[in-house]
Amino acid sequence: MNHTYHINIQKFSIHDGNGIRTTVFFKGCPLSCAWCHNPESQRFHRELMFDEERCTGCGSCIAACPQQAVFRAESGKAATDRTKCTACGLCVSRCFYHARSVVGTEIPVPELVRQLVRDRMFYEVSGGGVTLSGGEVMAQDMNYIQQLVKALHEEDISVDIDTCGDAPYENFQRVLPYADTFLYDLKAVTPQIHLEYTGRDNKRIIENLQRLSRDGAKINLRVPVIPGVNDGEEETQGMIALIRDSGVRLTQVNLLPYHRVGADKNIRLGRADCREFEPPAAEKMEQLKNRWQGAGISPVFIGG
Ligand code: SF4
Ligand code: SF4
Repeated sequence: MNHTYHINIQKFSIHDGNGIRTTVFFKGCPLSCAWCHNPESQRFHRELMFDEERCTGCGSCIAACPQQAVFRAESGKAATDRTKCTACGLCVSRCFYHARSVVGTEIPVPELVRQLVRDRMFYEVSGGGVTLSGGEVMAQDMNYIQQLVKALHEEDISVDIDTCGDAPYENFQRVLPYADTFLYDLKAVTPQIHLEYTGRDNKRIIENLQRLSRDGAKINLRVPVIPGVNDGEEETQGMIALIRDSGVRLTQVNLLPYHRVGADKNIRLGRADCREFEPPAAEKMEQLKNRWQGAGISPVFIGG
């Protein structure tokens, strides 16, 4: 892999690990979860985003595009042929209505470290640090990720890694000596459910979770609760059994209720295949929390 793209750097995050953290979002993920909150982070390449509601149909972008990828739709607004678009970004500055943007920026490791170190004071007073998120951190260029995690560790800054777990275990071994906590997502234990809703098998994800625990990693398990997918008794029982029966040691569990943010972004990325779910009721979240705690696994939190 030649490029590691970032989506953005979010300061003062309080839901991505302990204390106040700066979260770096990477672009590209092997999974394509039907409920993904950050669909712009799914693909590994740069992409154009288009907010049709802002478009006035002025036509400036049509003239600006060297690929002739932009045309006027029947509505009078701009439309883009994404098979021709190279995400060069030339049309972005021509749009005075901010309807167009390109997601995906490259930042060399030393420059990124310089930016992240600036918030050291907030990390120190709050017990926070930096969280790497995605997309999938462990599926990026691992030379880049290892350099970054090691450099932050040498600066005495805590680094948490948010991961879906679907990467070769060697990638985890490269950051294990320098990382603080893995925020490890578990979407489903039933292989068919995992495959149907994420596009990938969960065998490696489960094996990596067990190996990380055996290797002494600090792990916060994060379960996105998606009604009709993984909130039933069979899945809940399966997840609890997986943790208990294989002796996986967790520092905490976070049950993350589904919310709808991702659907609108899918439309702006030109993806028609997005799926919507009903957010879970508060009582359901409490029930699930009690179920986990009742099985002797704690602490369990609702939310990030
Ligand atoms: S430049 Fe912006 S407002 Fe004008 S047609 Fe293109 S997207 Fe629409
Ligand atoms: S990003 Fe570049 S190629 Fe894509 S529509 Fe805009 S000008 Fe054309």
